[in-house]
Amino acid sequence: MAIEIACTVMNWTNYHMHTFYCDGKCTVEEHARQAIENQMLAIGFSSHAPVPFQSDWHMKQEDLKAYLQDIKHAKEAHPQLQIYTGLEVDFIPDVIGPGDFEAYKLDVIVGSVHYIGQYADGEYFCMDFTAEELARGLREVYADDVQAMVRAYYERVQMMVKYDPPDIIGHLDLIKKLNKGNRFFDETQAWYKEIVAETIELISNSSCIVEVNTRGFYQGKTTEFYPSKWILELCFAKNIPVTISSDAHHFSELENNFEEVAVLLLNIGYKEVKAYLNDAWTSMRLLSNG
Ligand SMILES: [Zn+2]
Ligand SMILES: [Zn+2]
Repeated sequence: MAIEIACTVMNWTNYHMHTFYCDGKCTVEEHARQAIENQMLAIGFSSHAPVPFQSDWHMKQEDLKAYLQDIKHAKEAHPQLQIYTGLEVDFIPDVIGPGDFEAYKLDVIVGSVHYIGQYADGEYFCMDFTAEELARGLREVYADDVQAMVRAYYERVQMMVKYDPPDIIGHLDLIKKLNKGNRFFDETQAWYKEIVAETIELISNSSCIVEVNTRGFYQGKTTEFYPSKWILELCFAKNIPVTISSDAHHFSELENNFEEVAVLLLNIGYKEVKAYLNDAWTSMRLLSNG
């Protein structure tokens, strides 16, 4: 985070994208080329940071250097595009968090909660994998208490914001990813609204940016973006800055649904979005067409 400069030009930016170093499908170079073709202003890479346990969707610790090298090379090869380093870092209390990657001097860190507790054998419970896995975790880790599980999710987001804040909070209401048709809970219930409002209040006292992440929507998993419109309205009421991202796992997904997000944000009242430009967070005037 650095000095703010007002800026009136609007072109799409996206600081949430994954490469083949984690579970993304494409190279750094492929993303950069597509971003140039799309005439994007800036992109930031955020492959899943290594975790200190077995995982098939996070980067291996030994690949981190090569990943950063690839980004450096792309930067040198494509001076017409602003390209930034970054990681999507899991927050697991006492295990891993954004602060663990300070030494790498990354430009942008997306902090995300994907794990909410552990199974009896010590395996971490990942709540954004499949509905079956979510049901298993709900049963085995939370004794079928949905409210306890959802609260545990937001409590972890709150802990991250308080004790280990990233630049960007990843997919703020990811807990709804597998909840289509209210399979597990109802977003309109008072207890859910309360825990979300409490989380928003905390974020408003931090320097974190909330991303409007289109991935769940374009994957057909959610009917709204992350976070839902009513949560973005709370963010707006509390002056919480936002940025638009697609959580791309393929270069073809770099700007998915960005125009719809811009229209949504304008309707809510947002006039600006945050962008990391010239090595600093900047406010950009929001236009509906990039
Ligand atoms: Zn994520
Ligand atoms: Zn991601």
